[in-house]
Amino acid sequence: MSRMPSVALLIVSAGKGDRFGGGVPKQYRSLAGQTILRRTILALSDVADGLIQVVVGPDHLENYAAATAGLDLPMPVLGGATRQDSVRSGLESLSAKAPDFVLIHDAARPLVTHALVLRVLAALEKGVDAAIPMVAMADTLRRQNADGSWSLVPRDGIWRAQTPQGFRFAEILKAHREFKSQSVTDDMALAEAAGLSIARVDGEETNMKITTQDDLAHAERLLAGAYEFRTGSGFDVHRFTEGDHVWLCGIRIDHTHALEGHSDADAGLHALTDAILGAIGAGDIGQHFPPSDERWRNAASDRFLAHANDLLHSAGGQFVHGDVTLICERPKIGPHREAMRVRIAEILGIPLGRISVKATTTEGLGFTGRREGLAAEAVVTVKLPA
Ligand code: MG
Repeated sequence: MSRMPSVALLIVSAGKGDRFGGGVPKQYRSLAGQTILRRTILALSDVADGLIQVVVGPDHLENYAAATAGLDLPMPVLGGATRQDSVRSGLESLSAKAPDFVLIHDAARPLVTHALVLRVLAALEKGVDAAIPMVAMADTLRRQNADGSWSLVPRDGIWRAQTPQGFRFAEILKAHREFKSQSVTDDMALAEAAGLSIARVDGEETNMKITTQDDLAHAERLLAGAYEFRTGSGFDVHRFTEGDHVWLCGIRIDHTHALEGHSDADAGLHALTDAILGAIGAGDIGQHFPPSDERWRNAASDRFLAHANDLLHSAGGQFVHGDVTLICERPKIGPHREAMRVRIAEILGIPLGRISVKATTTEGLGFTGRREGLAAEAVVTVKLPA
């Protein structure tokens, strides 16, 4: 192929997760602060030129919407009674786009790496119909016989198949259509039935399928070292003007003056918003919400903060801690401090213990001392995938 082959990614998220215990299917459970499905999508988001199709169970559209909030994805395809039905529906939905290759991946394998995906694609580019990641068996295999005795199963030639399984799109779609009535456990089995050429590529032990609570705990341990912590700072000033109240840290406070600004002039939330943007290297508040834009005239600043928080989450990050300092002689902050923390925690969706609000004066010195305006600064720590 002279041009770059096109690649679609099909993520199968229609399982009910019965082996995990009742309630919400495992792919919608949280793994180190993010749903498993979201982690899986983010892990693969750079791979498929934006062509990522998720197949979901019809009963879990709300879980899907929550897990994928803010991500740019096509409408999910509804899964069928079996995994095989679900994959076939997903493939049919991609048929109009006719990609060269499709990678079919389990939503419950969030620790998939780019290196693994590149090995699968490299094998397909060499011309095989199917490329399957596999890992060798480390454990000794034993079979218990009908009479209760044990026999050793030779490990030679035994492999564990993983996903993403990569295929020539046209070939695997054809196999799914042809062997619709034949029940199989994975797509490789269909490729075999259809006589497709199959290459084994090296899988990864860490590319585990989260099936049980134990698996989830194991994945959490694997992820523990896969983060970095970053710090961002923000600073903002607004001038006092005529009026009878101010907004600070999302709280309305009666006062002898108002604060001047294009939005509600909430310097506390502006500093905090800038600190989050700073921590993820996403510019500043003026870039996202230009003062020249009439939409933000008198806007409540909680939406600015919520937007920065969404960007943080889209980057796979978590808000760890924020510390806001308000610098003014008046209004008195003390009586409102707890309400401010509660409001910020609410906007960010974090426990109260992760946010601090402090106040100080400048002993009558400078513009804050002369009560011409007030200042706010914020420092934020976030956790991002390394
Ligand atoms: Mg401001």
